[in-house]
Amino acid sequence: MTPTGRFAPSPTGPLHAGSLVAALASWLDVRARGPQARWLVRIEDADTERCLPGLGEHILGQLAACGLVPDDTPVWQTQRTARYQAALDALIATDRAYPCGCSRKDIDAALAARGMTHTRHGERVYPGTCRHGLQGKPARAWRFAVDPLAAPSDLSAHDVQWTDRRLGPQRQDVAAEVGDFVLRRADGPWAYQLAVVVDDADQGVTDVVRGEDLADNTARQILLQRALGLPTPSYLHTPLVLAPDGQKLSKQNGATPLDLGTPAAALEALDRAAQALGLPATPATTTADALAGWVGPWRHLYNSRP
Ligand code: GLU
Repeated sequence: MTPTGRFAPSPTGPLHAGSLVAALASWLDVRARGPQARWLVRIEDADTERCLPGLGEHILGQLAACGLVPDDTPVWQTQRTARYQAALDALIATDRAYPCGCSRKDIDAALAARGMTHTRHGERVYPGTCRHGLQGKPARAWRFAVDPLAAPSDLSAHDVQWTDRRLGPQRQDVAAEVGDFVLRRADGPWAYQLAVVVDDADQGVTDVVRGEDLADNTARQILLQRALGLPTPSYLHTPLVLAPDGQKLSKQNGATPLDLGTPAAALEALDRAAQALGLPATPATTTADALAGWVGPWRHLYNSRP
């Protein structure tokens, strides 16, 4: 298989210092694998409510200003809904997806009745109320059955283990820590988990490189890949760039848009991103030379096969 990496920004805001780190890392990882490897860009606009018009194009322009140019035409998730529907249909046909009529209040009440009030990062662990039918409620969402609905053959299958190329061995019991998760909300938008799995497979992505804030989605994505008969790529989650207050970068705490207005400004932004990845400051005077100069150090640090 052709080594293939991707950068998959959501057009909810312009590229910032943190997302540039993920973009640069995924680009370097591909270039470190030789001339036939491909770097792709996917605009993750599936959750239309959170996306702002024109931002996808803006991000592509910001990447180009940094010399990060994809090897194929960018993919937009809003144009791929038929593929997501086909995947959902396949999951329904194999008893791995079901409609859910629970509101947040219903979920809280069901959790409380079981003495489980905990939520994970503010997300409720779904207690499985609708696994065996809606009981007259209207459907609000489609959920993935972490354990197959009919005759579960291997109940430990929801305990997922994988090795992250930077973080090492990882493990998550998706049934206990997440529960049956949403694939699509009834009002339309496709969930990130389903879209990302279908897209990575369709684009032939072999190596996922993205920010560490996304690491704990990996087990869910691996379960979906297995249920859909898709290959699992390798995963590398890059260090997070923290805001001056030590919190995750966000628009509220100073993730100011990058200044990429001149070649010198773009070079400076790239240099900061490279240093967040543990790469040396560049002596180069152009973005192209700087990028080329980091390929060797990247290979050395992150152990890419040449
Ligand atoms: N669209 C996601 C984000 O911008 C990234 C998805 C991924 O790389 O898997 O946070």
